[in-house]
Amino acid sequence: MTHRVAIVGAGPSGFYAADGLLRSRPDLHIDVIDRLPTPFGLVRAGVAPDHQGTKAVVRQFDRLLAQPDLRFAGNIEIGRDLSWDDLLEAYDAIIVATGMVVDRKLGIPGEELPHVWGSWRLVAWLNGHPDFRAGPDLSQVKSVAVIGNGNVALDVARVLAKSAEEMAKSDIVPEAEAAIVAAPITDIHVIGRRGAEHASFTNNELAEMGRLVRAVSVADASVLQAVAPAEDPTPEKLRKGKNIDTLKGFAAHKPGEKPVTVHFTFHAAPTKIQPGEVVLSSGSVKADLVVTCIGYTGQPFPQGEGIFPVGWARRGPTGTIPTNRADSHAVAQQVLAWLKDRDPKSGPDVLPVAVDAAGWHRIDKHEIAAGTAVGRPRVKLTDWQALLDVAQSG
Ligand code: NAP
Repeated sequence: MTHRVAIVGAGPSGFYAADGLLRSRPDLHIDVIDRLPTPFGLVRAGVAPDHQGTKAVVRQFDRLLAQPDLRFAGNIEIGRDLSWDDLLEAYDAIIVATGMVVDRKLGIPGEELPHVWGSWRLVAWLNGHPDFRAGPDLSQVKSVAVIGNGNVALDVARVLAKSAEEMAKSDIVPEAEAAIVAAPITDIHVIGRRGAEHASFTNNELAEMGRLVRAVSVADASVLQAVAPAEDPTPEKLRKGKNIDTLKGFAAHKPGEKPVTVHFTFHAAPTKIQPGEVVLSSGSVKADLVVTCIGYTGQPFPQGEGIFPVGWARRGPTGTIPTNRADSHAVAQQVLAWLKDRDPKSGPDVLPVAVDAAGWHRIDKHEIAAGTAVGRPRVKLTDWQALLDVAQSG
């Protein structure tokens, strides 16, 4: 008999937790449960489709799926197929790695208008999440307002600004790509409610905005003057200083130099959204599409003994994928300490029939083959039934 651990959520924090557990206790039985038939959570659905280098982290997780005592159980929804109580009864510990997948709200008038999209919904569409198959109508969109000054705002602005050639090696879903290519976008406003020195962009991502083929990034030099130089020694100040330097470079560009202009606008809190316009504390911008990139909230899960949240479910929606490695490994140590003095439970296996690792690998193979045919990393299946049919086709 050995201990059994359920990890709910097959995203990075869940897999890093499994990794942390197996490094010390390779004898453990671990079930990684997800409501989707596909693993990898935010890497598959949230990382921008043109950032394939970031997505390559899944190779590490795929190696874990090959471990004999780690089962992937996809297409299992807690609350529909199993309850939290079922899990508590059957497993010695539960790790909650459900992330944060609900767009936060601005709480301003006009937010419910149909041209206002949360970044989770938009990026999930770009990434072929089966629950988000409908995208915005981009056919008349000339001007876009991207609200927020984090990396998600940059992801959204960049993917809308890139040319078809720049997206050619991405795994953006073909419908989204066709809609973006056909859209008459000329202006994208990336809007921060505070000053540039408070933006949470990482510098690599911001600098990438200066290298786009069909878009020029511009910023207002007057708001960038009084900020710390890049030599400031702390990593956070160094990042901010580098960002200011990058933005000062953007300030030397001219709007309209390329077909699309990305305007970095600061000290501009949105106060109202109306058709065709976002009203800001400092004026207004035209916007046929508004994308809010202001963070996420999660769904409730039970608290108590034997339940261990990790990743964004534990800390909130901050930190990059590598941040989750250390975080999940630390939680794995707590789980191991909890298991140490407990006898393993001996009840029956409660997992319903699921999409297992072999089923996922059939989906993976199918998508990669479809991608190879058109020179892309993969073409994703976006329909629930198609995913299940391919998973069960073996
Ligand atoms: P974030 O970095 O926390 O940025 C959220 C932005 O929303 C902030 O600029 C915040 O402004 C703004 N905001 C919040 N409420 C607002 C309101 N009511 N009105 C106007 N603006 C508002 O979060 P994120 O961009 O969603 O990214 C989440 C995490 O994923 C971050 O840790 C990020 O680095 C990471 N990520 C990394 C990558 C990458 O490495 N390439 C890509 C995507 C995401 P204030 O600062 O004023 O609150």
